[in-house]
Amino acid sequence: MDKDRKLIFAGNWKMNKTVAEALDLVHDLKLDLANVREVDIVVCPPFTALAEVSKSILDSSIRLGAQDMSEHNFGAYTGEIAAGMLKEFSTRYVILGHSERRQYQKETDALIAQKLLAAHSASLKPIVCVGETLAEREAGGTNSVLETQVNGCLAGLSKEQMEETIIAYEPVWAIGTGKTATAAQAQEAHAYLRGLVVELFDETVARRVRIQYGGSVKPSNARELMSQPDVDGALVGGASLEARSFADIIKNSI
Ligand code: PEP
Repeated sequence: MDKDRKLIFAGNWKMNKTVAEALDLVHDLKLDLANVREVDIVVCPPFTALAEVSKSILDSSIRLGAQDMSEHNFGAYTGEIAAGMLKEFSTRYVILGHSERRQYQKETDALIAQKLLAAHSASLKPIVCVGETLAEREAGGTNSVLETQVNGCLAGLSKEQMEETIIAYEPVWAIGTGKTATAAQAQEAHAYLRGLVVELFDETVARRVRIQYGGSVKPSNARELMSQPDVDGALVGGASLEARSFADIIKNSI
């Protein structure tokens, strides 16, 4: 596919997979994706499997991501994990502001902005999730929700940090529901998001920044979504839990 930006596919395993199951999955992924070099491939296991998955992917082009991290570097924050701890396992990416964390852990844009800065200071690349609910879309509020989230999460970054940040457009109504945004809906939102990056930063940053689509991506819809000019990869939940479907999403997109 002819795009300046390298596509990036990340599998968000959420709260699934024991260590043994995680190792089986990456074993199969390494076989299925052994010859794929033209895109970035990231797996985001639960924290408990990071250490073993990290060792297992050493001999592959698959990279490691985490699903969240603390905004603090260390200290009395029971249950939290700091960026520096993720780095101990050669973690390269971290998902921040996923809609499930916004919903269940009540994460705000202000908190996500702090986490973004903490990630960058540890040289972790954040994948920051934004997206509207069904009610917001139906009320015609998609653009204003995206604008609020982008301004709230990204305004404090330097241009260099923004270029190393991945935005994931994840309409909440499409996550885990089987409902996918149409390619046209995805393109419209991605183009709008890129425009917001122009306003906050500049044209060069916006041209370089990668914007993934997430929400019920499957092998059957990946190609059309990825062929949109502003869609630069996918953040995949359910379909990343099986090697065959995650690998097919990637292979069908290149
Ligand atoms: C996600 O949770 O980031 C996601 C996109 O999930 P799913 O692919 O299952 O919709």
